[in-house]
Amino acid sequence: MKIRATLLSLLLAGASVGAQAADEVLNLYSARHYQTDEALYSDFTKQTGIKINRIEGKEEELLERIKNEGASSPADVLLTVDAARLSQAHDLGLFVPVKSKLLESRIPAHLHTDDWFSFSTRARVIVYNKLDIKPEQVSSYADLANPALKGKFCSRSGSHPYNLSLLASVIAHEGEAKAEQWARGLVANFARAPKGGDTDQIKAVGAGECGVTIANSYYVARMLRSSVPADRKAMESVGIVWPNQKDYGAHINVSGAGVLKYAPNPKAAVKFLEYLASDSAQRYLADGNNEWPVVPGVKTDNPGLKAMGPFKADELPIGQLAANRVKAQLIFDRVGFR
Ligand code: FE
Repeated sequence: MKIRATLLSLLLAGASVGAQAADEVLNLYSARHYQTDEALYSDFTKQTGIKINRIEGKEEELLERIKNEGASSPADVLLTVDAARLSQAHDLGLFVPVKSKLLESRIPAHLHTDDWFSFSTRARVIVYNKLDIKPEQVSSYADLANPALKGKFCSRSGSHPYNLSLLASVIAHEGEAKAEQWARGLVANFARAPKGGDTDQIKAVGAGECGVTIANSYYVARMLRSSVPADRKAMESVGIVWPNQKDYGAHINVSGAGVLKYAPNPKAAVKFLEYLASDSAQRYLADGNNEWPVVPGVKTDNPGLKAMGPFKADELPIGQLAANRVKAQLIFDRVGFR
């Protein structure tokens, strides 16, 4: 009887150790949903034994959810896109600072703050109709406000984070007064009131409804790789310009992640961020959405991005975009870029 009891207790002890390892989890709130992400997450589990519970949602919904859940939130990590949104999460006090030698050595200083890290980059590029506009007319963001382009500029809403971050970078480089003047010039050049997303603008430029627009590089790459005949036809009519190549370079935005303040599994959360900076995870992240890795030396092979050619990227610290986000919204409100 005694032996049995000992055996049983040994078995139980063994079982509980096993259960502990199997129970190590990471609760990930993610605004990403691409095919390569399945491999991204299963590789992490294979390497660490940590199981990922994934909650996917739209960027704004996830922020709202974490805010409402407060101290009882099960979320460990928020993975989302755009510096404007990441900085919003920071301003709401949702993140906790992360100290990781590995992250600091792998991710360039201008691509992280104290509490969130970028894991892929995208550029905001100029897309023009080749029959209507010459590339030298639109070589910089500033050119888009030139009165010569009256009635030709199309865009998504000024309140969208992609445009807020772009204006935030203009504020950082040119100052608030010049940035406001620029925004006013954009509004004066509208071909139509802002509507739709970046892809809608590219299609409108392809169809000749608009002369020029700005779009995130991955939307352009996606259109360039599209097998839909209408997309191919639209892309034959458009040209791509990397903006500001003679000065500060094309505006860069990011996807990124941070550890949440009330994370129940903070160690697993840091491990996950460190994993995202590994070579293989960097490739999954970039390939999933036609983006670029942040870790220097990690190469991807993307025909859509290759077709767009090499370019000079703005190296403005990503934290500065974040800091100018609210100013950018106020400027767009003042000039009527809705
Ligand atoms: Fe997007």
